[in-house]
This record gives sequence, C-alpha cells and structure tokens, in this order.
Amino acid sequence: MNKEQFDVVVIGGGMGGACAAALAAKEGYRTLLTEKRDIIGGRFSCKEIDGCLLQTGAPFIHISGWVPKVCKEVGVDFDLTECLDVHYWIRGECYKLPLEHRMNALFEICNRVASNRAKLVGGIVKEIASQKVMSGIRSAISDPEKLGSTTIKEWLLRYTDNEDVHGIFDAISVGFLMAHSYEIPVYNFFHFMATQKGFNDVAMSTYGNLKNMEKLADVVRRNGEVWTNTPAKRILAGKNGVSGVVLEKEGKELEIPCKVVISNIGVKETVALTGEEFFSEDYLADMRVKMRPTPISIIHIASDEPICMEEGDAGAMLVSNARRITDAIPLTNSCPAMAPKGVHLTWACASPPSVLFPVDPEEEERQIMKDINMIFPDWQKKGGRIVEIEVRNMDHDLPEGRTWLGPAYNMPRETPVKNLFNVGDAVASSGIGGTSAGAEGAKRTIETVKKKVKAG
Ligand SMILES: Cc1cc2nc3c(=O)[nH]c(=O)nc-3n(C[C@H](O)[C@H](O)[C@H](O)COP(=O)(O)OP(=O)(O)OC[C@H]3O[C@@H](n4cnc5c(N)ncnc54)[C@H](O)[C@@H]3O)c2cc1C
Repeated sequence: MNKEQFDVVVIGGGMGGACAAALAAKEGYRTLLTEKRDIIGGRFSCKEIDGCLLQTGAPFIHISGWVPKVCKEVGVDFDLTECLDVHYWIRGECYKLPLEHRMNALFEICNRVASNRAKLVGGIVKEIASQKVMSGIRSAISDPEKLGSTTIKEWLLRYTDNEDVHGIFDAISVGFLMAHSYEIPVYNFFHFMATQKGFNDVAMSTYGNLKNMEKLADVVRRNGEVWTNTPAKRILAGKNGVSGVVLEKEGKELEIPCKVVISNIGVKETVALTGEEFFSEDYLADMRVKMRPTPISIIHIASDEPICMEEGDAGAMLVSNARRITDAIPLTNSCPAMAPKGVHLTWACASPPSVLFPVDPEEEERQIMKDINMIFPDWQKKGGRIVEIEVRNMDHDLPEGRTWLGPAYNMPRETPVKNLFNVGDAVASSGIGGTSAGAEGAKRTIETVKKKVKAG
C-alpha cells in the first residue's frame, strides 16, 4: 500500500473520531484521520487567547469511563488531574458537598436554606422528606421504564416543590442529559444513573485537552496520517457500499479511495455528504426525530484573584435557578497550566430556557452577564475580565450534545450503506454520554470493522 492509500478514512477528529482512528491504526488498518479545523479534538480541545487555554467543550472526562479504557488499549496515557469537589450555588451562597451520600446532602442543604429563609421572611417550612425521595430514586433506578413519559420535574414534584432542589436537578439534567428537567422524560435520567453509576470520578486534562488529543493523533501517525484543515466534502457510495471520500486539501478537491469510512461529524451531516438516496425512509425519519442538538454558551473569565470556589477546591459548582448559567469550574484551581502564572481562569456554561428552539445570541449574552454579576458579585474588583463568551446556537457544528441522552434518542452506528459507520455522541450507546460515548462507540465500531474488513 503506498503513502496515499488508506484502508480506513475517519472524518472528524473529535473524541469519537480520534479514538476510532487510533484503534484502527493499532489494529493494522492504514488510517487517515481528516479534520476540517486547524486543530483536532472537536468538543474536547482547547484554543489559546491571551495565554489562557479555553475549552472548546468538555472540561471533564470520567476516570472509570471509556476514554481511559481506549487510551490504555492504544498505549496512550492522558495527563489528568482528579476534580472531585462539588459545590452547589443556591441563593447567593456556596455549599460544599461531602464526597459520599451527595443526594442526601443536597436535601439537607435545601432544608437548611428553606428554614433560614423562613426565619428571615416568615412562612412555613416544608421539610423535604429525604428518605422518601431516596426510596423513590432506588425504585426508579430498578425499573425506570415504568415511569413512562413523566418528566424529571414531574417526578420530583411527587416528593417536593422546593425550588432550590428543582434548580439543582435542572442543572444536572441539562448538563448530563442535554435537555431541561421539564423537557426530558425521567426514564432517561435513571437509565443514565444506572448505567454510568453517577459522576463521582471526573478529571481534567492537566495541560489542556488538545495536548491529550494529540497523543491519540500520534498513534494514528504510526500507521497512517492526520490531516487538519481538510474538510470532507463527499462520501462516495454505490451499490457495494462505501468506496472513498472527497476531501478539500489546500484548496483542491482530492479523491481518496478506502474500504471503510467512519464519520464523527453527526448523523445528519453524514447523510448530507453521502446523499439521502442511500438511506431508507425509516432511517431518515429516525434521524429527524432523534437528532436534537443542544444550544450552549461557554464563558471564560480571567481574574487576578479567584472568583469561584475561592478556597482552592478542584471540581465544579452547580448553580440552582440562575437565568442561564448552570455550572462553573475554576479551571486553574486544579490545572494552573491553563493560564499564565498568577492568572485565575474560570469556565462556566449556560443554557437557554428551552433547548428546543434557536436562541438570540445578543439576548443570551445579556442574561449571562446578569448571571455573572449575581453569582460572582465581586468579579470585577478581583481583576476579572471576560476572555470570551461563545454562544452556540443549535445549528452550530459543535453543540453541547448532538442529541439528548437516553435510549429514546439512540441511533445505530452502522448505517444502511455497507462499511459506512457513525461514531460520536450522536450515536451513543444507551446511557453513555459525552466523551465516554465517543470512546465506547469507537471501540465497538472497530470491533465490527475487524469482523468484516481485512487490513491491507
Ligand atoms: C460546553 C460543553 C460542556 C461539556 N461537558 C462535558 C463534560 O464535562 N464531560 C463529557 O464527557 N462531555 C461533555 N460535553 C460533551 C462532549 O464534549 C462531547 O459529547 C464530545 O466531546 C463529542 O465528541 P464527538 O466524538 O461526538 O466529536 P466532536 O467533538 O463533535 O468532533 C467532531 C469533529 O468533526 C469535525 N468536522 C465536522 N465536519 C467535518 C468535515 N466535513 N470534515 C472533517 N471534519 C469535520 C469537527 O471540526 C470536529 O472536530 C460537553 C460539551 C460542551 C459543548
């Protein structure tokens, strides 16, 4: 096989694409990973502004999840720093959770907040019956399907109407499941809890996500190539399945024949590059119903003094009932290399009131600024400056998620076109989300490719 020939072409260098390309190269397939941007990593990467490393998407990976498993298989060791602390921001106060029994701790905190408020403004305190909620959670995890189309909010209302608890559940819902607690059936939440067993073991890339993703790219380079600034323009298919791709490289179209195409760019984009005529009506209908990209805004604030989790804890702060911001992370508390010496870098993300409709970017920025002033009231006194607020609408090619998390939104990775596969969070396995979904899908896809196609 000469230098320009490949067994496998992977389109898109996000977590799913990079893992698939590294696994394929390791299995002996000569592999091309082609990425349209000038850096790989997609929503697990970073760009530099004023010496600060800004996250393009995921700050965290799951230590016991699929990314470390795939890395181990291809002989890569990500530089990671554990970030286990969780704080809740509720009505202007920040509460640190213990490492265990976090749900019980949440109810205790909210009961305390309600009782303190009653002392100040009067009213009757309705204590949350935590034992009842916990037993409801246990029964729901054991048989999530019986909850039918009940939303998370409706399910929680059975036990409590405490607004602070509802605010935290909404932040968890939109952060993990990609839809608000009043938009997504609770079935998906408990399915996720049962499959992913909570989210108590997360870590961040010590030197930024791009450095780690480059390690996967190096595995590909040992048995293939990685081309950046090279968008795929077409996927070539015929009666016998996929036969190659057309790429745009240095301003020219280039046809690359191959045996297998693995697309990491989303189901809709894969169909668009191949042509709808190759897909059944059922597949296209499924795609239209199930693909639900979530709009998101990503905020980076640099400051001279810490503004979030100021005592130096490493982890995340979930925000209850703000206008837009749902969580914030003091990146440099755990990974000081993400900003110049002496600079504190805080990340936050923000969701519109509904993830079902396009947003007005100017209105999002206005509401986000109000939230920043409310959640970090002295951020400017501490030398705070906005490095970037990036509002991504639902048609952005790097949304929060390409679809909501849960069995109702899953599509198969294999397509009706022979040897054309999708990987990434658009085609997650049931209950697995985010970066883990990309890595797990890559592993399963290469297992399927090995059964069907010989290298060389
Ligand atoms: C703000 C935010 C916070 C998040 N937080 C977390 C978290 O803490 N933990 C977690 O696990 N997940 C989190 N996620 C989700 C996680 O980032 C994604 O699920 C995951 O990174 C998606 O990976 P992917 O494999 O689907 O590919 P993507 O990251 O979507 O990569 C696709 C790649 O394809 C490229 N591409 C597109 N079109 C073409 C083309 N025509 N030709 C060539 N290349 C192309 C793109 O440039 C991109 O690099 C978060 C996401 C966001 C946005």
